[in-house]
Amino acid sequence: MAQLVPCETCGNAVADSAQICPHCGDVGPAEKAAQRRSTITCLAWLVFVVIIALIIVFS
Ligand SMILES: [Zn+2]
Repeated sequence: MAQLVPCETCGNAVADSAQICPHCGDVGPAEKAAQRRSTITCLAWLVFVVIIALIIVFS
């Protein structure tokens, strides 16, 4: 069963699996979590590439 969490925009209770907030129409918790995950994945790749580049430059 979905948990209710407060919307970050309007503060109303929203299911944590909601794609958008039914109260204000902003992006819901599930979509925000997905965005965070993709941002973290992107940053992890960037760090990985920089480390590889540094190893190549200094070896
Ligand atoms: Zn809202």
